[in-house]
Amino acid sequence: MHTGKWWWEMQKKLDEHCSGGTIVPIIISLDKTQVTMFRIKTAYPVYLTIGNIPKEICHKLSYGSHILLAYLPTTCLEYIINQASHHHAIANLYYACLCRVLALLKPAGLEGIPMHSRDGALRRCHLLFATFISDYPEQLLATGVKFGECPKCDIEAKDMGSNTAPFHLQKLREVLDALATLNHGNLVFVHACTTAGIKPIIHPFLEDLPFTNIFWAITPDVLHQLYQGLLKHLLGWLSAACGAAEIDARCRQLSLNHHICLFTKGITCLSHMCCFIFGIIIDVHLPNNLNPCGGYSTSYILCNTLVTAQRHFTHSTRH
Ligand SMILES: [Zn+2]
Repeated sequence: MHTGKWWWEMQKKLDEHCSGGTIVPIIISLDKTQVTMFRIKTAYPVYLTIGNIPKEICHKLSYGSHILLAYLPTTCLEYIINQASHHHAIANLYYACLCRVLALLKPAGLEGIPMHSRDGALRRCHLLFATFISDYPEQLLATGVKFGECPKCDIEAKDMGSNTAPFHLQKLREVLDALATLNHGNLVFVHACTTAGIKPIIHPFLEDLPFTNIFWAITPDVLHQLYQGLLKHLLGWLSAACGAAEIDARCRQLSLNHHICLFTKGITCLSHMCCFIFGIIIDVHLPNNLNPCGGYSTSYILCNTLVTAQRHFTHSTRH
């Protein structure tokens, strides 16, 4: 992480503020998680780690380099019947909680905290919010960007699959200026937010984080945008080529195995099917009598799938 542009830029900004500080990049990850398989019981943990820990340590679960910072409420607020009010209430609850959880980062980022490094030297460490790892819906909540748009850059929603369409990081200054019009009346506020390309959100946590650009902090959602996105497309393609009934029938015929979960009702309605998708389609009858066992057809399927999927998910990879 210390070789990235972000750290160098931040060091310059910090030195303008007060020189000689050491940066401790804060990495926050959160995801709503289902904790049972048979009831809808969810938990909403927020984890924290820092960018100064080498990745070979950070990636090992047993070293405990991620600490559990908080649990956000998972209430659905189902008693609010009006849908717009419901969305607003959920979003405001999320902002209120995250503001509270991250409140200490403001003084810790601006003034720094004396801490000993491994070599024994006492350093003035500035804790700066650097990376926000979460799913697309939470990225939208964090940035206030509308559904379907990129939470990181200003690309048009219709150009998301383009390989060449230019894009630039969202402009934080404009967003902050729009949010600052909250006291000028509702109409002015809503209009300013729409012009800046965000939803009218009240005091999101990005307002109070020193030196932080939330749009820089957003990382591509690898699980949903690349992996599941690709699989979803693959399954759609296979359903069109072989028929959903055929895929589901083959799924029911799979024999028991230690490492895979069998879905006896079929998989075309599911999302966790990557372990055995290839086993299911290996000798399926394709339209125009294409032979799926022949090297040509199999590679044809995969190439076709990958080319189309690549177009769809190019944008995530471009980031
Ligand atoms: Zn983007």
